[in-house]
Amino acid sequence: MKSAALSPATEPLPERAAVIDLDAIRHNVRHLVNLVAPARLMAVVKADAYGHGVAPVARAALEAGAEWLGVAHISEALALRAAAFHAPILAWLHTTDSDFHAAVAADIDLGCSGWELPLIVAAAQQLRKTARIHLKIDSGLGRNGSTAQDWGDLVARARQAEIAGYVTVVGIFSHLAVADEPSRIETDTQIVAFTMASAQAHAAGLSPALRHLANSAGALSRPDTHFDLVRAGLAIYGLSPFADKTSANLGLRPAMTLRTLVSMCKDVPAEHGVSYGLNYRTAAPTTLGLIPLGYADGIPRIATGGPVRVNGVTYPVVGRIAMDQMVIDLGEAALVASGASVIGVEAVLFGPGDDGEASVDEWAAAAGTINYEVVTRISPRVPRVYRNA
Ligand SMILES: *Cc1c(COP(=O)(O)O)cnc(C)c1O
Repeated sequence: MKSAALSPATEPLPERAAVIDLDAIRHNVRHLVNLVAPARLMAVVKADAYGHGVAPVARAALEAGAEWLGVAHISEALALRAAAFHAPILAWLHTTDSDFHAAVAADIDLGCSGWELPLIVAAAQQLRKTARIHLKIDSGLGRNGSTAQDWGDLVARARQAEIAGYVTVVGIFSHLAVADEPSRIETDTQIVAFTMASAQAHAAGLSPALRHLANSAGALSRPDTHFDLVRAGLAIYGLSPFADKTSANLGLRPAMTLRTLVSMCKDVPAEHGVSYGLNYRTAAPTTLGLIPLGYADGIPRIATGGPVRVNGVTYPVVGRIAMDQMVIDLGEAALVASGASVIGVEAVLFGPGDDGEASVDEWAAAAGTINYEVVTRISPRVPRVYRNA
């Protein structure tokens, strides 16, 4: 039962590990590249590649046909450059303390909603270099991006900076609000607003090569959002952005398996309390299994009931999840059936499902959240191990 399906690799796994299948990443990227063509694909690798580990994922994504890397922060983009990634990288979330100078020096493309423009121009002036920018319009999400009201002024200022040689407007972009619900008409409204903003930019003399609007949900469900470039995060990790569709429904393969070993196993009588608060008491004489993962590892404390697969059976977590550990109730029958202790047996929280283990989505449901949050929160305390590098 020891993770045979995870990989043909034979070297032992760390006792607690997030195993990342880079073949799954490549498969998902190829699938998206084909789906969005002739638009190009940007692999969004912010937040340490959604918890999967940025360098191995970025390498696999570029190998499989992604042409761009996308991150939120300049610091994330600089880390990629320091790791010798030469592909175009876009960073889109800044503060007045962001290091625009270092970004321009490292040829990082910069998202610009308006206020950043003078800071980017100043960095370009100092460096005697042309900065590469992507102007962002708020087409309806209400987060970053210029308002439609300010857009005319922004494109005019950007055009002046372009003529002066300080910037090149490489792209125009925006972000979708409800693409995970493909039939919602707000996406149509966003497409119209985005198309109008694009036309306005052209009228101001700009000729950005790349218009980009779609995230994973747009990539998978709305071809009318693809434009020239698609920024996909969640889907490259093999996870579904839709409540009513699984990874398999979408032709995606989940890349992360979270596994450990049962660290303790013992028989207890009926009415035995389990974990802080003693919120759970055993219904009958039973066997408890201790799983050495907890909220410091990124397992949400609220996720009691989340599934753990041991010896081909899925057990819900009982009692409170603690900092380092949590408990499953194996039941009398399970122990009698296995005839032995399960100390040292593999325990899988989630994975691609090949061995019947639960999905990230089941953990998300147990925690009252979304799959994005479950994987991005797996903490650095859990070693990442790569298969099929
Ligand atoms: C995170 C992010 C994405 C990727 O979104 P997914 O839903 O993970 O595909 C794309 N664009 C922007 C601006 C983002 O912040």
